[in-house]
Amino acid sequence: MRLDKLLSNMGYGSRKEVKKWLKAGVVTVNGHVVQDDKTQVDPETDHVQFQGVTVEYRPYIYLMLHKPQGVISATDDAREMTVLDLIDPEHLTYNLFPVGRLDKDAEGLLLLTNDGKLSHALLSPKRHVPKVYYAEIEGLVTEADVEAFQAGVILDDGYRTLPADLKVIHSGEHSRVELTIVEGKFHQVKRMFKAVGKRVTYLKRIKMGGLALDEGLEPGEYRELTEEEVQLLQ
Ligand code: URA
Repeated sequence: MRLDKLLSNMGYGSRKEVKKWLKAGVVTVNGHVVQDDKTQVDPETDHVQFQGVTVEYRPYIYLMLHKPQGVISATDDAREMTVLDLIDPEHLTYNLFPVGRLDKDAEGLLLLTNDGKLSHALLSPKRHVPKVYYAEIEGLVTEADVEAFQAGVILDDGYRTLPADLKVIHSGEHSRVELTIVEGKFHQVKRMFKAVGKRVTYLKRIKMGGLALDEGLEPGEYRELTEEEVQLLQ
């Protein structure tokens, strides 16, 4: 890969800034000063140093975003604000994309990465990765709903959902529940409640696989995953 891309990805500044550093002669590759930003390097085998300090190469990045309501889970949109608009330039040098989607009016845990393999594994219908949602529902949620979700409900397109675990936190005029599903059909949670004649008024994803939303993150904030958290997703 190009030396300027490597340095920029590893957080040494924008491509323009990196070009200036290179001109200043502070970067060496295998012990030799390199000033041309187009120089090709193999990040696995070449030894790159910046001001005498070894540049550690990290090909993948994993961000946990607390997606706020009102932004869409896309990488680019002409009209709407996307989740990438919430990410700092230093992280945008990676070709980030969201792992799956959350509706525009939903919030909570959204993983952003450039690791296609992990994303594919997490979203694969064969893997049945559990996703946990906190939801608020108009009207009573009953034991019959719990049983129906466990048995599988028929969505508006005729699809029968896999068994889902519904925990009722509070049943009343405005009910509060936690729902675990192991698949990811379009608008699945809303459509499951619709199948039992109920409406979701608030939806927040709180877990995906072994990864839980860091409640210290305000909506719109994000942080990198720890190594342990990345392992939890493998
Ligand atoms: N189910 C929904 O209905 N919406 C989401 O955003 C995620 C799951």
